[in-house]
Amino acid sequence: MQMETSFNYIEENYKRIIYEVGDSAAKYQNGGKVDIIAVTKTVPAEAVNYAISCGIDKIGENRVQEFLSKKNSYDKRAEIHFIGHLQSNKVKYIIDDMDLIQSVDSIKIAKQINKLSERIGKIQDVLVEVNIGGEESKYGILPNMLKGVVLELSNLHNIKIKGLMTIPPIDASEEIFYKMQNLYIDILEENIDNIDMNILSMGMSSDYQNAIKYGSNMIRIGSALFGERVY
Ligand SMILES: *Cc1c(COP(=O)(O)O)cnc(C)c1O
Repeated sequence: MQMETSFNYIEENYKRIIYEVGDSAAKYQNGGKVDIIAVTKTVPAEAVNYAISCGIDKIGENRVQEFLSKKNSYDKRAEIHFIGHLQSNKVKYIIDDMDLIQSVDSIKIAKQINKLSERIGKIQDVLVEVNIGGEESKYGILPNMLKGVVLELSNLHNIKIKGLMTIPPIDASEEIFYKMQNLYIDILEENIDNIDMNILSMGMSSDYQNAIKYGSNMIRIGSALFGERVY
């Protein structure tokens, strides 16, 4: 066992991603800040902690069970985001730990998060997930429903909408990213009371450069950082 060297690839990957993100941000966003979320699904806590020691300060969790089994081993310095589809009966297991729930994909789940947040005296930051490609297989609010949903959620006092999240279709054209950017700007310009739009979470290992080109300021990176997942 050579534990001290076995995670070196994570550091190399991280440096490369930082460089490329900086490059895209300089080119398309006047050097604006783009947050990198390390997506931890299937990744052992030791590897996640190594990434945190390299400078990762936000991690993204997809699965409630997996999170619960790893959370006590995590380095506590990183913020924790929930990024997977969440069932109403599971909210109670994660609500204490989440800095941001990115995957609010229905009014029902928003109401449940609001209810449990109220119970523990928390105002939970959330993103509304948008199904930008209108895909049957994906969760998220359809673009034409988004404004209505955001308006309804803005009345829930124990959640705070901080922006939008999306998972574009595989091999999406730039048009899709452009459409998402415009949707984000439309909602921003509505100046809806009780919401605080400043996050567009878009971009994963294979498409983050395109995402940054179209205004993303939060990318969620799994395989490019930790290596390919073995399912
Ligand atoms: C798995 C996952 C990612 C990261 O995917 P990679 O292609 O491995 O970077 C990002 N966002 C969500 C919601 C995911 O489930």
